Amino acid sequence: MSTKIAVLPGDGIGTEITEQAARVLTALGLDLDLQHAPVGGAAYDLHGHPLPPATLELAKSSAAVLFGAVGDWKYDSLARELRPEQAILGLRKAMGLFANFRPAILYPQLANASSLKPEIVSGLDILIIRELTGDIYFGQPRGVRTVSEGNFAGERQGFDTMHYAESEVRRIAHVAFQAAQKRQGKLCSVDKANVLETSQFWRDIMIDVAKEYPDVALSHMYVDNAAMQLVRAPKEFDVIVTGNLFGDILSDEAAMLTGSIGMLPSASLNASQQGLYEPSHGSAPDIAGQNKANPLATILSAAMLLRYSLNENAQAVRVENAVRKVLEQGLRTADIYEAGTQLVGTREMGDAVLKALD
Ligand code: NAD
Repeated sequence: MSTKIAVLPGDGIGTEITEQAARVLTALGLDLDLQHAPVGGAAYDLHGHPLPPATLELAKSSAAVLFGAVGDWKYDSLARELRPEQAILGLRKAMGLFANFRPAILYPQLANASSLKPEIVSGLDILIIRELTGDIYFGQPRGVRTVSEGNFAGERQGFDTMHYAESEVRRIAHVAFQAAQKRQGKLCSVDKANVLETSQFWRDIMIDVAKEYPDVALSHMYVDNAAMQLVRAPKEFDVIVTGNLFGDILSDEAAMLTGSIGMLPSASLNASQQGLYEPSHGSAPDIAGQNKANPLATILSAAMLLRYSLNENAQAVRVENAVRKVLEQGLRTADIYEAGTQLVGTREMGDAVLKALD
């Protein structure tokens, strides 16, 4: 039986970039059944909801979801629950996607794209694993209340609640240790244990889970220091694991080390290896429909899909090598263009990756 993959292009450049990634997946000769459905603003326009039931059903019943991007300023005035971005939150929740993988890789050919000195970032290859369904983002209670006593009595106060259950920390810990085993065997857990009870608890659980992975070297770092070390000596890191809030910030910082948002894939996985794969960038409405978008982040997301949801590691490497090859050939979309290289469009970049597969 063929393996079902949901392709959800979304808005803006989403259509153009997923088209190229779908072409690459199709060209591999695997028995895949790629089924398309609208999501985000495109789905709102068609069905009045950013995540229509049929789209959600397709995603849940597929081995993996290849996602483009959602959002456009024209939907900014909609009620929060109807905004395109809600589709991603809805998919994460419905599919139980608790582990977010954000690799930050800087191909030597693109070392000049980073705002850091090439010697600090050239060859960078780190993986940030962010817990995605817990932490202060989802903690209850939250809201705005009137303070009843103390210094601020009588004033309104905004508040949120940070918490992590033991099972939540354990499952992300296992994911992170196993990812480190497949890489250089170095795992850095990032927290704020000097100030936060939740973080001290997180650290204690990490230390406990580490006993099951003697081949992985576990270290700990406070989040403020991690933010500094990422720009001082990012190549010191192999795998970083952290909670939802810190991971949100550090993964964007790490992305920017590479200087090219159009190159960065991501994956969000659940406990049964089902995953949602998407580029780290947004829908780029400013360049949508102009054949200018870089499709490589989405093509590399498809490679992660092959590796993590389909267990097709050799095919994943094949796609990643094809991407390396087109960079070596000097092909560049506008976002990574520099003098002396060859400027190409979205479709031409897809053509070149297809050609480089063999
Ligand atoms: P963005 O990532 O869409 O764009 C930022 C800048 O990077 C733009 O100049 C854009 O042209 C450029 N860019 C992004 N991807 C590119 C690519 N593949 N190739 C070449 N250039 C690329 O961020 P934004 O402009 O802040 O947001 C635009 C919309 O995307 C908003 O509606 C936002 O809510 C949404 N968004 C969606 C996601 C998602 O779907 N996961 C993530 C972030 C933002």
